[in-house]
Amino acid sequence: MTGETVTSLEMLRRLVAFDTTSRLSNLELIDYVRSYLAGHGIASELVPNEDGRKANLIATIGPDAPGGIVLSGHTDVVPVDGQPWDTDPWTLTEKADGNLYGRGTCDMKAFSAVVLALVPRFRDAGMKVPVHLALSYDEEVGCFGAFRLVERLVSRVKRPRACIVGEPTMMGVVNAQNTAASFQTVFTGHEAHSSMTHLGVSAVHFAGEFIHWLNVVQDELAARPRTDIDLVPPFTTINVGIVAGGTAGNILARECVVTWGYRTTPGEDQPALERRARAWLDDVLLPRMRARHPAARIETTRRASIPGLMPDDNEEATRLALGWSGGNRTYAVPYGTEAGIFRAAGIPTVICGPGDISQAHQPNEFLAKSQLGACEAFMERLVDWARRQ
Ligand SMILES: [Zn+2]
Repeated sequence: MTGETVTSLEMLRRLVAFDTTSRLSNLELIDYVRSYLAGHGIASELVPNEDGRKANLIATIGPDAPGGIVLSGHTDVVPVDGQPWDTDPWTLTEKADGNLYGRGTCDMKAFSAVVLALVPRFRDAGMKVPVHLALSYDEEVGCFGAFRLVERLVSRVKRPRACIVGEPTMMGVVNAQNTAASFQTVFTGHEAHSSMTHLGVSAVHFAGEFIHWLNVVQDELAARPRTDIDLVPPFTTINVGIVAGGTAGNILARECVVTWGYRTTPGEDQPALERRARAWLDDVLLPRMRARHPAARIETTRRASIPGLMPDDNEEATRLALGWSGGNRTYAVPYGTEAGIFRAAGIPTVICGPGDISQAHQPNEFLAKSQLGACEAFMERLVDWARRQ
């Protein structure tokens, strides 16, 4: 069995060409990867979502042995809607500046492209421990795929030694990251003519009070920065992303929906802020709304919750990744990734991948071409290590 030999650059070109915006199916890309792997004699397993429109892919290359390394990438990308792109986002475009332009070049198809291009190398290198390929869906909208993927992975493969999540870190080793949680709070008031404020309760006005409260809490958190960890910014961050409410300028709004979330620093009690917000809404704000109208309601739903990463829990993965990357220090990052989900399943995990996070989600997203070579070098050292086990 030989299969098709493809360079990392060519593989990246192919992966970028699949529009895998999170709202769409990723099955075309997954089917392509599955048949590519099959061409190299490697079986893969799909772990579909509820409606079968998306799937994770798991494949093991090398011996059926414990102590392998999980290489994790997400297949979805953020939308390009409304962004001023100079090139077609779905056509990998190499420019004279040495950069490769296209949606997902940096976040994060380049890591997966390098891993896939090296599949024949992994297969033929005589590794004593396997490499497990783990490709997920829906990372960008709440890491929904990764929960299913990791659940299946830990039941399918013999205990892996470490996991490398290939999000863009310029091949630096990240062993600490914030948690992330997102919520939707629906304020329901009672409509009335805007001249008759005593007859109703405006959902928009009370939603505004909640947003103000979140601002006050944010200031309080920022005033107590972490000094024990090298993180920018060094405190828990809160964001209100969407506010939607009301129907007319002269009506007290019946409904207002606030989409908000926060990211706690590594090791902080993640649910504490959620509990505090719910308590304030229930005990302080709701009684005031109800005093105006008994039908008033406030309902908060958690939409996503992603665990963080603590350095102490990941010493094994950190040591290995530093060896393969040639780095001599680790980093902490404020954004969420799937890493915390692998870690929560008992697999020591770090983040290390090609590209600069500042490029992620941007128009004209690019990857410095030299990052492909840096990632290939990392994988070559991983192969050498796997042969010596
Ligand atoms: Zn990403």
